Amino acid sequence: MTLERIPYGKHYIDEDDIQSVVDVMRNAALTQGPKVKEFEQALAKFVGAKYAVAVSSGTAALHMACLAAELGEGDNVVTSPNTFVASANCAIYVGATPQFADIDPNTLNMSPDALTQECERLGKVSAIIPVHFGGLSCDMPAIQNIAKRNQAIVIEDASHALGATYPTGEKVGCCTYADMTVFSFHPVKIIAAGEGGMITTNDEDLYRKLIRIRSHGITKLDDQFECHDEALSEGEVNPWYYEMLELGFNYRITDMQSALALSQLNKLDSFLFRRRSLALAYDEALLGQAHIKPAQIGGRKHNAHHLYVVRIDFKAIGKPRRDVMNALIEQGVIPQVHYIPVHLQPFYKKLGYKRGDYPNAEAYYDQALSLPEYYSLTDEQQQRVLQVLLEVVA
Ligand SMILES: *Cc1c(COP(=O)(O)O)cnc(C)c1O
Repeated sequence: MTLERIPYGKHYIDEDDIQSVVDVMRNAALTQGPKVKEFEQALAKFVGAKYAVAVSSGTAALHMACLAAELGEGDNVVTSPNTFVASANCAIYVGATPQFADIDPNTLNMSPDALTQECERLGKVSAIIPVHFGGLSCDMPAIQNIAKRNQAIVIEDASHALGATYPTGEKVGCCTYADMTVFSFHPVKIIAAGEGGMITTNDEDLYRKLIRIRSHGITKLDDQFECHDEALSEGEVNPWYYEMLELGFNYRITDMQSALALSQLNKLDSFLFRRRSLALAYDEALLGQAHIKPAQIGGRKHNAHHLYVVRIDFKAIGKPRRDVMNALIEQGVIPQVHYIPVHLQPFYKKLGYKRGDYPNAEAYYDQALSLPEYYSLTDEQQQRVLQVLLEVVA
């Protein structure tokens, strides 16, 4: 018998999901059809935002948000070092300068105090990209205040946090504390589109810009046309006419992807419920462990639980992380490390960053391990993960 493999994360697809994609392939347009708009409206309603723009990936969404915010050369963009590289790369895409503010060791999110210090050090900050790491929302009222003092735009990277809430109960993505919020629907995230992303906003100007940037900078809306001589014949809009108003991209999402994501959105509440139950069960099982500590223990009620992260004191157990990981993998349990701090990537080191720059992110990284947490993980599988982990670490 081959050993069952239990990964750290996994999507869940049922017959309804499959049928919804097949229906698009049989009946409707494959791209730019009705499913994109339906998905946008459903997600905007779910998070409580006025507008939503569906795009080809979370990375495209971050790039577009930076473009819509008109960030560019000379603009400092501050994000968390404890994130996926895309949260910082988007600043570089538009010619801006990525900067980092260290994390709070308890939440593993950007620390408002560190952000304040970073803003003072830099003198001028144009945008802040807080990341709701693992699905736990950042201290957004504090970050919004700092942004206001610095006249900086706020773009939340909520790739992990679909369904998460703020302590006030509002959903992440409602844009009460931010100009734009970005989501990812990569299969390992909370819902899957294959590839996909979304930007939510309450600002109509940003919304219109995002719609244009998604498709080559082109508009077909006559109230946006700049060149009336070309647009009109005898006061009527020419039927073939469109205008390219700025440099945009093809960052569109397909109807197949939107149909899948929409069908997944119907199951979001059960996804979130199961993820939370698993997190609470891990917390309880690991209570009192000397050298394995669940991270982000606060705010379980508000967390979307994309990741279940523990901190292991590898020095105290006398086994390096490599050995622990290999022993787990041998037993079919496949953990992961989230994240190698962005500033330690060779590309960022060449920009001048080094070990020691963000001590909290680095100290956490040295102890980090993400355990399996996903909707279809059974209680038995979770027990097996715990049993193998405790054996290996003991
Ligand atoms: C996944 C992820 C992204 C990128 O999303 P894609 O849809 O894979 O492009 C950006 N930021 C964070 C924090 C992520 O986890």
